[in-house]
Amino acid sequence: VFITVEGPDGAGKTTVIKELSELIKKNSNQSLTVTREPGGIPISEEIRQVILDPKNTEMDERTEALLYAAARRQHLIEKVLPAKEAGNLILCDRFIDSSIAYQGAGREIGEDEVLKINEFAIEGNYPDLTIYLDVPSEVGIDRINKSRKGDELDRLDRESLAFHEKVRESYLRLVKANPDRIVLIDAQDNIEKVVKNCYDLIKERYPL
Ligand code: C5P
Ligand code: MG
Repeated sequence: VFITVEGPDGAGKTTVIKELSELIKKNSNQSLTVTREPGGIPISEEIRQVILDPKNTEMDERTEALLYAAARRQHLIEKVLPAKEAGNLILCDRFIDSSIAYQGAGREIGEDEVLKINEFAIEGNYPDLTIYLDVPSEVGIDRINKSRKGDELDRLDRESLAFHEKVRESYLRLVKANPDRIVLIDAQDNIEKVVKNCYDLIKERYPL
């Protein structure tokens, strides 16, 4: 089963995935693959470095979108599909919806344009389930500023409130348009509750 976790910056995706995977390991024998985008394998981690380098301020937004799509495809082919084939439960930090929200809406390339190159990249391999961790933009930005030091903030964390709001609105549109695949979980709740909600949702759909 291929599960992706999505959300704006500061939603807590990485922490939630870490605790969720520990909870699953404790309660079942299900084999897990925990991975992230952009990255998860050497080629895609290298592409991640290029995209997120604070020095690369001059990167064109379509170049950025293509790099994300390229990293996504290689990670899908090398890691996600083999893990799915092997019967693993895959928890992936970000996937196609991040590109629709960040490059499509945030960077204003257009959601449909970005969807096109991503459909080319994923060839129909949509996630079975997408957990969208929702957080208001101010709260997300506040969490980032509190938890990360200046030199840890990557190029994209430094975007304006307006950028973050466009990203969130796009995610909310995706939830509306894909009610069977994407489930919204309120990420303003405390971490234990968010993790429990994710766990219950997965268990309800897939026997663990
Ligand atoms: O998931 P993570 O927070 O590590 O993502 C790293 C950065 O990349 C974030 O600042 C996020 O805003 C940005 N990003 C993006 N477009 C994507 C995926 C991530 O701008 N498609
Ligand atoms: Mg970030």
